[in-house]
Amino acid sequence: MSERHRTPYADVLEIMGWTPLVRLNRVTDGARTPVYGKCEFMNPGGSVKDRIGPAMIEALEASGELKPGGTVVEGTSGNTGIALAMAAAIKGYRCIFTMPDKMSSEKVKLLRAFGAEVIITPTAVPPDHPDNYVMKAKSIAKKTPGAVLANQFYSAANPAAHERSTGPELWEQSAGRITHFFAGAGTGGTITGTGRYLKSRNAEVQICGVDPEGSMIAPFFNTGEAVEGHPYKVEGLGNDKIPDTLDLDVVDEYVTVSDGDSFRMARRLTREEGLFVGGSSGLIVQAAVRKAQELDDPDAFVVAVLCDWGEHYLTKAFDDDWMRENGFLERPRRRTVADLLA
Ligand code: PMP
Repeated sequence: MSERHRTPYADVLEIMGWTPLVRLNRVTDGARTPVYGKCEFMNPGGSVKDRIGPAMIEALEASGELKPGGTVVEGTSGNTGIALAMAAAIKGYRCIFTMPDKMSSEKVKLLRAFGAEVIITPTAVPPDHPDNYVMKAKSIAKKTPGAVLANQFYSAANPAAHERSTGPELWEQSAGRITHFFAGAGTGGTITGTGRYLKSRNAEVQICGVDPEGSMIAPFFNTGEAVEGHPYKVEGLGNDKIPDTLDLDVVDEYVTVSDGDSFRMARRLTREEGLFVGGSSGLIVQAAVRKAQELDDPDAFVVAVLCDWGEHYLTKAFDDDWMRENGFLERPRRRTVADLLA
């Protein structure tokens, strides 16, 4: 049994981080390279973003921008909002979040459950459009007395939280043997902070970015050109511009994965490994498994971030009708016991 949790904690914020590293055994399809999942979905708010919520709030308190009784505003794909709302609940701040309309209804409901106000904005607008979720959050923060923008795409507290926690955890959990780290970038906080720490311990560790097809980050990394992307269904990853919090200098390679492959891998992780995770985890694992097969090296040590919990997507990746409507399920509908009884 792990030494963790043997003694009580002062509050829920203390249990964030030190997530388990679990070997993936079946989705690797026989590759001899060990692949491990970093179980960020086991954070109390159900995602990797739990690490940055309290850190960003503390930075705003320290700079004097956020005062007692104040309001935290943020544009979020959901998970940062959940992390901020959790910290805000404990510290007594009000929360207002803007969210693009493609995000799952589960995440909207979760944010409201924590007492946050949620404003839904259109997904298909350019990054500088006033209705864009980040632009909208900015204008709300400006207009609301006592409000401050958490600003995850610019806050140095975001990558710093990963440099301080995720990186050292992986180094210790792998006993310094980690050779490849796979993550995606929404803000880039995870890959930048973790990558910086791992490179500081061993410059040979390969930091591998994974992008949904349609995002502009991977094409920009690989060609230097800022192409216009197209909408995609995976949530929380990819971007239509390079965020301030993403340092591409720490990244060694950037690959893309399709929506269909991402969601099908999320389902395989759940059904074959018992790891109930969302589409962005599927996307990252898909690329990590590809690399594991290419390497076929028992001495390598590949880590993929399992970003968030599958329950956020029960109406999407885990709903066969939604998968079929979007062309992500290749097999015809399986006959169920209910069909036989009908
Ligand atoms: N996956 C999911 C589901 C997310 O919500 C996020 C963050 N928006 C990420 C991955 C990417 O993390 P980061 O912002 O640290 O790049």
